[in-house]
Amino acid sequence: MIDIKEYGGEVWVYLGLGSNSGDSEVTIRQAALETGSFLREMVLSSIYRTLPRDDENQPLFQNAVCTGLTRKSPLELLMLVQAIEKKHGRRRDPHRPKGPRTLDIDILLYGNEIISRENLVVPHPRMTERKFALVPMLELDPLLKEPGTGIFYAEYARSLEAQGIYYISLNHYSTTLSWEDRAEGYGSKYGNKRKQ
Ligand code: ADP
Ligand code: MG
Repeated sequence: MIDIKEYGGEVWVYLGLGSNSGDSEVTIRQAALETGSFLREMVLSSIYRTLPRDDENQPLFQNAVCTGLTRKSPLELLMLVQAIEKKHGRRRDPHRPKGPRTLDIDILLYGNEIISRENLVVPHPRMTERKFALVPMLELDPLLKEPGTGIFYAEYARSLEAQGIYYISLNHYSTTLSWEDRAEGYGSKYGNKRKQ
């Protein structure tokens, strides 16, 4: 992937954004814009509607991934994304850790770094099980590989079950989708309709 030195001390990072409370699309777009203050050349993926996982009795989520180049250290980056979460009024029910949230931002990748600290684990340890993280990330770069193992994230995405993602755009990365996913994108299972 990226040799940090080649980029003059800048590192590519990928952030996962999720929301299912309030106006989620506005929140995600606004939060992504705010990451632009520390992510140069920030790019935001499409926003996907996804079925809640773990705690299933809650509204649909909207998920996206943004990427860009940063000079911030991993822990600085964590503090900055947590400040954005807080600004958007992220409240948590301590009894429902996987329940509704106005905004959740996870650091998915920090260049090729493998970080294992008490408060920060990168690559994000659950991203390979979560299509809501992998699919938007692969939209931004379909050839991304897992640091350490070199396994293509597209391989992980392909091996996962459908997981109820409502694909908003199916054009340029459709080869990474299974036929089951494409059918689901058309909304047969959950009554959604494609927008475009
Ligand atoms: P989740 O994202 O699993 O729903 P939270 O956002 O509530 O849960 O978890 C927040 C905690 O996770 C933070 O206190 C942070 O220190 C820790 N954490 C560990 N690794 C990461 C990561 N890669 N990105 C964001 N937070 C992380
Ligand atoms: Mg989080």
